[in-house]
Amino acid sequence: MVSIMFKIIQKYNNCRRCNLHTTRRNIVFGRGSHKADIIFIGEGPGKSEDLIGLPFIGRSGKLLDETIKRAKELSRIPDTIFIDYYITNIVCCHPTNRFSGENRPPTKEEAYACYPRLLEQIEYINPKCVITLGKIPADFCKELPYLQFNLYHPAFILRTGGTCSKYYQEYIRKLINIFERIILK
Ligand code: URA
Repeated sequence: MVSIMFKIIQKYNNCRRCNLHTTRRNIVFGRGSHKADIIFIGEGPGKSEDLIGLPFIGRSGKLLDETIKRAKELSRIPDTIFIDYYITNIVCCHPTNRFSGENRPPTKEEAYACYPRLLEQIEYINPKCVITLGKIPADFCKELPYLQFNLYHPAFILRTGGTCSKYYQEYIRKLINIFERIILK
């Protein structure tokens, strides 16, 4: 049987709903469990994500995965319970500055163009909550009909010192609270 996620991916595989299709190498749909309790939503794929076709595979993603693991270990959730999560972005093509080639945040138009794809993925997974990473996804995803939490973007934690950042302990604490609220209720 062909999964609904596969159908969503097929539906958007040649997407030209916004101009990002002119510069993308790959469409970056998401990674993780299709039965996830939690969906993390970032801004948009960076250069490496565009090359490989998976979200959050660079330093930010490594920090995010490590932080999720650490928060789970420090929480009251028993070791036997596994936290399923899925990671995607508000846009699934790399927003890049046409002249410098540098990463840039997605525009509102690009984000709205990608919204049906985001919504279809979230509806299919039907998570217990979504966690937005950074202000742009937080503002954009406000209207999603899902319990929502906002965290700093991991790139901000990296910029402010990584695991030594003065914001890192707060980050872990917030994640522990979310996990316990979602999983132990
Ligand atoms: N930053 C994001 O917001 N998304 C990615 O996929 C990678 C870095």
